[in-house]
Amino acid sequence: MAIGSTTRRAFTDDFAGEVILPQDSAYDGARVVWNGMIDRRPALIVRPTGAADVATAIRFARAEELPIAVRSGGHSIPGFSTCDDGIVIDLSRMRGVRVDPERRIAQANGGSLLGDIDHEAQAFGLVCPFGVVSHTGAAGLTLGGGMGRLQRKFGLSIDNLLAADVVTADGRLVRASEDENAELFWGLRGAGPNFGIVTSLEYRLHPMERVITYGSVVHPVERANELAALVREEVANGPDEAALAFGFAHDNGEPFVFAGALHCGSLQDAERDLARLRAFGPPSADTFAARSYLSTQTMNDDAMSWGHRFSMKSAMLREQPDDLIDKLVGHLSRIPDGAHGEFTSWSMGRAIARVPEDATAFAGRDATFWFAAEILWEDEALDESCREWARDALADAQPYATTGRYVNDVAGAGDADVVRSVYGDAKYERLVALKREWDPDNVFRLNQNITP
Ligand SMILES: Cc1cc2nc3c(=O)[nH]c(=O)nc-3n(C[C@H](O)[C@H](O)[C@H](O)COP(=O)(O)OP(=O)(O)OC[C@H]3O[C@@H](n4cnc5c(N)ncnc54)[C@H](O)[C@@H]3O)c2cc1C
Repeated sequence: MAIGSTTRRAFTDDFAGEVILPQDSAYDGARVVWNGMIDRRPALIVRPTGAADVATAIRFARAEELPIAVRSGGHSIPGFSTCDDGIVIDLSRMRGVRVDPERRIAQANGGSLLGDIDHEAQAFGLVCPFGVVSHTGAAGLTLGGGMGRLQRKFGLSIDNLLAADVVTADGRLVRASEDENAELFWGLRGAGPNFGIVTSLEYRLHPMERVITYGSVVHPVERANELAALVREEVANGPDEAALAFGFAHDNGEPFVFAGALHCGSLQDAERDLARLRAFGPPSADTFAARSYLSTQTMNDDAMSWGHRFSMKSAMLREQPDDLIDKLVGHLSRIPDGAHGEFTSWSMGRAIARVPEDATAFAGRDATFWFAAEILWEDEALDESCREWARDALADAQPYATTGRYVNDVAGAGDADVVRSVYGDAKYERLVALKREWDPDNVFRLNQNITP
């Protein structure tokens, strides 16, 4: 198809947003996504202002038989929110959040970022559990599940989703909630990008102090097994308020092991609940302090800024035994020179596990830990060795995995077996039936795709 001035005209009447074509000066900036490894050239990028524009863009794309990539925050690690020779429907002009403090509800437009919602909610002493980098898109994160440092207390982001507005493959605007299109609402919570473009999300909020306790203790890597054992005990016996993270990394070539926590209860309770973790050692560093919740939600923003090359492999683990810890220590010394590699695991369970497995499409509620091998680098020449490093490390964790994987971490757009492994057979079949109902032509396929 010749994309040119006629395309721009096709959008004039029914489209209030921006249309960006390859010949426009804004094009190269507009096609960039978060992961620096992804370099694609869409035929056009459109930036709708609302659901009406989104419907126009979908109809146009279908008439012209263009593949559709949907973008909110642009943080898809495998690069699903862009494409070659298709249309990117980029919701970045659709940010905006409205909080109702009385009803404890936030309504976020489909292009909102996590930081937008955190900021508005915390102004009223309220919070919704989200991820840990504020420039991540709320829609992309939520539609896959949404994990973060409040998940043991308040659950996943999807566990707090009350309703969503969705523009469907045939350009209709529908609402999904427990009472309306309930099966669609089920599928949106864990396999969301498959069923339409979400233009508005409504979340339940919880009261939370603005100042919480956050930090980590750092030890030489030789103490990895002892620290891991302590973390296992704290995850099993500690309160819902404490979300623990455990991991290994390098600092100037020196490997170290760390245990971190965000405690969202009172400062006194946190002091009591984190005492054992802080007493172990002594640690080579202890950064625990009372901090504003909002500051903890942005402290990784710079380290995880746009443009780095990045790969990650993750699994939901039932356990994290000594044998695995030993193997991971071994992988630390094999991180390619010039790359920054890290293992992290986050405590799951509690509020996540209290939601029945069948209540949402998300799979993996019985995991004790979410585990990830993450690697970040700048030099294209390291692409293969870095990806291989993450793959190898994950292979060693695989024997301890539960069923279910975190879909947002999974690549494999066109591989039904990979996607089936995310959800397990029963959920996958239920999702296929839902896909046939809402998107039988697989218009929304640039995602962890459910093949209709
Ligand atoms: C730096 C970084 C930090 C992260 N931290 C966390 C974390 O703490 N917790 C966590 O759970 N995950 C985390 N993730 C993973 C993150 O949740 C996923 O990458 C998520 O898909 C990003 O959403 P997005 O809107 O930014 O991405 P996009 O690239 O815009 O979209 C991701 C996927 O969602 C689809 N999509 C986006 N918006 C819509 C919409 N409105 N309607 C329908 N489909 C849509 C896209 O088509 C694509 O398939 C992180 C990722 C990165 C890169």
